Amino acid sequence: MLVISNGIECYCLPDCAVCQSCHKRMKDIQECPEHNDTCDADCEYYAELWDEKDLKEELAKDEDKLLLDEAEQ
Ligand SMILES: [Zn+2]
Ligand SMILES: [Zn+2]
Repeated sequence: MLVISNGIECYCLPDCAVCQSCHKRMKDIQECPEHNDTCDADCEYYAELWDEKDLKEELAKDEDKLLLDEAEQ
């Protein structure tokens, strides 16, 4: 996911930057199926979850991931 910060492409996103629309790490998605192909820090879906527990909870909401986990079992 391309993240724009102050009009400039942001190349070094923190690992904890997530899309709260699709519940994935910004780094792991090329574009968001649910809102845009770019994002910025002011976006309502953009969040940096520095707390490991919050981050895990957010990523756990990802339905694609849940399906994968079920398939592996
Ligand atoms: Zn998304
Ligand atoms: Zn966004």
